[in-house]
Amino acid sequence: MRIGSRCGDRGAERKAPALSVFRDDEDGFTTVAVALALLLSLTLVFSAASAGWVGSRSAEIQNVADATAMAGVNAVVGFSTIVQVVDACSLSLGLTGIVVFGAGLVLSCVPGLTAVGARACAAGKSILDTRTSFVRSATTGIERLEAALPLIVVANSVSCVAANCEDGLSYLGCAIPFPQRSRSDFSALSAEIDDAGMDELSERMREVSEESGEAYERMREALERGWRADCGSTPYSLYERAGSLAGLPAAENRYYPTSDTWTFGAALVRARNYYAARLSAESVQGNNAEELTDSACRRAFYEYALGEMRAGYWVERDDGSVDARMPLLPRNADETRASSLYSRQEWPCTVENGSRVLHCSLSCPGALGPSSGQASLEQLDMGVVARCGSCKMDVGELGRVAAASTSIENGFEYHWRLIVKAAEDYRAARAEWAEAEAKTKELAEEGEGAFEGALDQLSAGGPTLCPPGAWGCVSVVYRSDGGMLPGELTEAFLQSADLPAGVAVSAAALAPDEDTDGGNVLASFFDSLGASDSVVGGSLDGLLELWGSLLVGYGSACEGIAGAGGGFLDSFDGVLGGTTGSWLKGQLKGALDAAGLAPVDMRLRKPVLVNTQDVLDQSGYDDVSTVREFVSRLPDATTPYEFARSLGVELTDGASGGRVTVAELEIPGTGVSVPLTIDLSALGGVP
Ligand SMILES: [Zn+2]
Repeated sequence: MRIGSRCGDRGAERKAPALSVFRDDEDGFTTVAVALALLLSLTLVFSAASAGWVGSRSAEIQNVADATAMAGVNAVVGFSTIVQVVDACSLSLGLTGIVVFGAGLVLSCVPGLTAVGARACAAGKSILDTRTSFVRSATTGIERLEAALPLIVVANSVSCVAANCEDGLSYLGCAIPFPQRSRSDFSALSAEIDDAGMDELSERMREVSEESGEAYERMREALERGWRADCGSTPYSLYERAGSLAGLPAAENRYYPTSDTWTFGAALVRARNYYAARLSAESVQGNNAEELTDSACRRAFYEYALGEMRAGYWVERDDGSVDARMPLLPRNADETRASSLYSRQEWPCTVENGSRVLHCSLSCPGALGPSSGQASLEQLDMGVVARCGSCKMDVGELGRVAAASTSIENGFEYHWRLIVKAAEDYRAARAEWAEAEAKTKELAEEGEGAFEGALDQLSAGGPTLCPPGAWGCVSVVYRSDGGMLPGELTEAFLQSADLPAGVAVSAAALAPDEDTDGGNVLASFFDSLGASDSVVGGSLDGLLELWGSLLVGYGSACEGIAGAGGGFLDSFDGVLGGTTGSWLKGQLKGALDAAGLAPVDMRLRKPVLVNTQDVLDQSGYDDVSTVREFVSRLPDATTPYEFARSLGVELTDGASGGRVTVAELEIPGTGVSVPLTIDLSALGGVP
């Protein structure tokens, strides 16, 4: 018996019979062993490869679901952009109308510009009418488009799913919009702006302005007439007569080259100086009784006139009233009787042959008897005193003094009378003008209120936008089994196998794209209308420009809306001067600033992937069970549309033909109507 083995002993037959296939006599691997090892390795490699292929193919379904959700939200993005543009159009059209109406009110306040004001008001009214019909058609169009939105979302997502079917893999699924039904409210969009108040006011303003303008013209004409009689007429005028007849020095006889600085008060001062000079130069004397009477009458007249002129005054007040006394001098016996000249007891009397006789002066050759005090011409007419046979002094003699100089052009009184008449006309016209101006101011204040009211109606609030898909879209994508593994991987080493069925769920929602400038969107929209400012003529050039700047201003925080409107109003500055219109313009600009018309949020929206649970939570669905329900229904549906319907999505085809006219937009001031048509194929295509 031997214990152990001898080293290197080859003699003993100790190989296990089972291993002999793999090991040869020299303890190396047999060919069979090598072949088997190779086979095993290759099988493992191919198994791993097919597992990797299956894994990657299985994971692809999630990408498809993500893309499908994004495609669904894309349709909602398109819709919300349309509503944003329509909203901006509605607001900017309303504002354009109100601002143009405001300009009409401003111009209606200005006499001489009322016709332009009426045109501006009509233009403003027509823009507001345009807006009304635009928002009406737009509301209908948007509601129709919104009704078709679920179908567009489903269609858009279905085409995305279809585009991902490749490599023998077949997907079925679509995106479901949440909320499923519209929760939008477009009634604010179609709220009308009541322009009746402004319209009625503007008409009254124009009436009053015309009255004011006419009164002003009459006032200017009377002033001009007065000035001409005082300084402007040739060869004679009050100024010229005062210089030649009384020899008044320039300091007492001021010349006014135009009526601009002249007033009726200047003529009164001149007349006062004139009669003072004439009176001091007139001493009663004459070569005979007749000359003596003339001289005495002139002196009496000058004295009377000077007293009258000194009692006269001329004050123009700021409220438009004129406080004045411009004395009219008697020009004949009758007018003399009506004046204090008639009753003044200043004529000397003597007693001749027992009766009391009135004389022009005690120097009268007929005044021989003793002096007997003084009497009036009225007393003479009454027979209290007798008429002197020599000087023949009576009211007729006195009345003759001014008769000639009042009736012919070279008389001082002729020009004075013209001035007094002009002053009366001026005073009346000025009072009417002041009254009309006060009424204009009152109406302008009402106009400011009506303007603010219209702005309030406009800024009362925009539409509530919550279309189907506003909270997001949830996509459910199903991959049926039967996706065969590529034969190259399997046929030699593995049994042929199918890719198992799979489901993926994803969700996407709208997020504002901070990089977009809404102003650019609106600017290109405005450009696309192809409107040309040249269509608008007359003083309302710039109307289209105004709308353009207001429209684009709505989407851009850089340009103030109030600034654009105020700029338009400022363009009338050249014609307003210091009128009530100018005041109203300032008030309207203030109202625009105070209305707080901030630019609307015109940032475009873009789809972003979100947590499915967030979208379902917002919609009131329980995450897990809902998804399970979606998934369970999906394979039973033969088409995605059936699937969508089975989940309660109302698919209304409101867009047959692929194009929807959202609204008819009339370009302000042009009468050109542009249909705003949406090509649904751009939104995702409708089957
Ligand atoms: Zn006498």
